[in-house]
Amino acid sequence: MIGLLGDKKTKLVHHLDGLKKECKISEMKITDRQYFTPDTLENAKSQNFSPCEWCILKQ
Ligand SMILES: [Zn+2]
Repeated sequence: MIGLLGDKKTKLVHHLDGLKKECKISEMKITDRQYFTPDTLENAKSQNFSPCEWCILKQ
């Protein structure tokens, strides 16, 4: 299931199925958006992204 979106500015990775207003996705610039292949948290972490506390850690 696809769904991870990284923010290059904050280095946080969000899960699109669990977005909260605190994620501030709407404030993220298109150029700061990072998708992952493969679309896994492990891959995102290996690229120095941290899981978002609102949409990933509190799920
Ligand atoms: Zn989030």
